[in-house]
Amino acid sequence: MEVLRPFRDEIKAKSLIDNIKALTTKPVNIMEVCGGQTHTILKYGIEDLLPENIKLLHGPGCPVCVTSLEAIDMAINISLNKDVIFCTYGDMLRVPGSSMDLFKAKALGANLKIVYSPLDALKVALANPCKNIVFFAIGFETTAPANAMLILQAKKLNLKNFFVLCHEVLVPPIIASLLESKESNVQAFLGPGHVCSVMGLHEYEHLVHNYQLPIVVTGFEPLDILEGIYACVQQLNNNGVRLENQYTRAVTQDGNIPAQQAIKDVFEVCDRKWRGLGFIPKSGLSLNSQFKDFDATIKFKVDNLDIQESKECISGEILRGLKKPYECEFFGTKCTPLNPLGATMVSSEGACSAYYKYRQSKLTASP
Ligand code: SF4
Repeated sequence: MEVLRPFRDEIKAKSLIDNIKALTTKPVNIMEVCGGQTHTILKYGIEDLLPENIKLLHGPGCPVCVTSLEAIDMAINISLNKDVIFCTYGDMLRVPGSSMDLFKAKALGANLKIVYSPLDALKVALANPCKNIVFFAIGFETTAPANAMLILQAKKLNLKNFFVLCHEVLVPPIIASLLESKESNVQAFLGPGHVCSVMGLHEYEHLVHNYQLPIVVTGFEPLDILEGIYACVQQLNNNGVRLENQYTRAVTQDGNIPAQQAIKDVFEVCDRKWRGLGFIPKSGLSLNSQFKDFDATIKFKVDNLDIQESKECISGEILRGLKKPYECEFFGTKCTPLNPLGATMVSSEGACSAYYKYRQSKLTASP
């Protein structure tokens, strides 16, 4: 942890907070779009240290949280096939579908295998030639290169028993969609550092230009977050908007070009339904025509589901920055990490889970 110490320095943090306080004269809403940033903000109590007129909103930056009910139901349908071994990351197991989650599917006989990397799924396919192996490929641009490499490798090995249920999503279209909404109350964004380390900065320059608001690509440690907020407030104070890169130790202008090429080789942009946010045009990645043989939705004929989301869970409003988790009447009572009603309480990166983990005692303390 020695390497992280400089990014958690209390004296520097205090100085940044003083600078932010000195500059903040009017109410400002700043949204982060990465679950890792949300957790740092909650873990270190950053919002409590800021002036009251700065509000931090927690956008759709957790891949588990935005995976649609339809995708979960497809995963459950596929996993219940007797000849399938369904490979998934562990945090997808408890994401509620329309009638059950993957854990319940396991209880009903689904053969689920928890994996820690896409290549683990490939090993399962090689070790089980008489079974169909399906990998649940979820995530933002950060996971897409590894998933692309997985599919390229499966093609190279000429695997006929390996399939991918793909629910990859893209950050820039969701930012554009949030800003185009009439209800948008965001004045600045902390940009997603990890996504930009892969994709570079170009797409975010377009967003700044088109929507005329500051975006500061930001890292994940407390000083990163404070520097990102300070840069946003400076820009808003000066009435100038531009793209800034706070996370220079990981993000370059062009990003990781080989990783971007792998994405282009395997995927094509598609419309995608996001949990709580609906269909967003051109906001997802699906397998391109060269790799359709690996598409689990074709192999198992599970596409075209359309499911209504629960009226109880307000995670859509939280992901749009309109509400905070503690404004949900079920937060911490009917909905907890052990009994989640919505995906934002399941994932370790979800906003409801972050508030439950770091703020629950404060929120429920008697006056
Ligand atoms: S607390 Fe639970 S029910 Fe409420 S918004 Fe969060 S996930 Fe949904």
